Amino acid sequence: ANLLAGRIAVITGAASGIGLAIANRYAEQSASLALIDLNQDRTTAAAESISRRTGARTIGIAADVSDEKSMQRALALVQETLGTSDIVVPNAGILVLKDALDITVEEFDRVLRINLTGSFLTAKVFGQAMVQANRPGSIIFTSSLFGKRGGRGNGAYSASKFGLIGLAQSMAAELAPAGIRVNVVCPGQIDSDMLSQLFDDRARDNSTTPEHERDIFTSRIPVGRLGSPGDVADTFLYLASDLSAYVTGQDITVDGGWSVG
Ligand code: NAD
Repeated sequence: ANLLAGRIAVITGAASGIGLAIANRYAEQSASLALIDLNQDRTTAAAESISRRTGARTIGIAADVSDEKSMQRALALVQETLGTSDIVVPNAGILVLKDALDITVEEFDRVLRINLTGSFLTAKVFGQAMVQANRPGSIIFTSSLFGKRGGRGNGAYSASKFGLIGLAQSMAAELAPAGIRVNVVCPGQIDSDMLSQLFDDRARDNSTTPEHERDIFTSRIPVGRLGSPGDVADTFLYLASDLSAYVTGQDITVDGGWSVG
C-alpha cells in the first residue's frame, strides 16, 4: 500500500462523494493530503477521519475553487504545512439540469465558473508551484460522461465538462517537458450526494419516488449497478501513480458500460 509514498496530493470537492473517496484511496497508499472544499467544518472532519483511519498526514482547507484569491490562500497553506504538491485533482463541481432555452445566463455562467474555470484555476495555481519547484507529478480532472456527449438538460454541465477535456489535452502538451502528466476521468452514474439530489428532483418532477428513478437509471447500466465513489477513485489512483507513467492527455470513462450499452 505504498503506491503514493512520499507524495503530496491536493483534492478539491474533497468533503463529499468522489473527492472524499479519492482522498481515502490516496491516503491508503501513503500520500499526504490537502482536502479542499467550501465548508471548513466538513473539510476538517473529513481530513481528521482519514488521518485517524490511515495515519496519513492531512489538512482540511476551506476554499472556493471559483475564486482566485481563495485558491492562492489555499496554495500558501499547503506550501506551509505539507510542501509542494505532486498530485492535483480539480474535482469540485456542481450539477444544474435545465434546458438551454430556459437556463439563465447567470446560472449558465455559474456552472462554467465552478466546473471549468474553477478546475482551471486549481490546476494553474498548484501547477505553477510544481513547475517552480521543479517537481514532476500528475494532474487529474473530473469530467463526466457528459464531457463526451450532451443530453437533455445538460447544456451548461456538458459544456463545462467537454471544456475540461480540451483544457487537459492542451495542458498535457504544455507540461510534459516539466514531467507533469495531465489526464481526465469521466465518471458515469455514481452514487453520491449529486446523484441522490438528481433522483429527488426527478421524483418530484415525474410524480414518482427517488427509488423508482434510481431503478430506471440502474436498469440502463450494463453491469447492473450504479458506480460507487470508490470505483472511480481506483482510476484516479492509477492516474496519480507511476503505473500510468507513460499516459498523458487521455480521458478514461468509468461508467459500468453505460456508454456502450
Ligand atoms: P458531491 O456533490 O458529493 O461533491 C462535490 C463537492 O464539491 C461538494 O463537497 C461541494 O461542497 C464541493 N464544491 C462545490 N462547489 C465548490 C466550490 N466552488 N469550491 C470548492 N468546493 C466546491 O458530488 P460528486 O458526485 O462527488 O462530484 C464530484 C465531481 O464528480 C464533480 O465534478 C461532478 O461533476 C463529477 N461527476 C459526478 C458524477 C456522479 O454521478 N456523481 C458523474 C460524473 C461526474
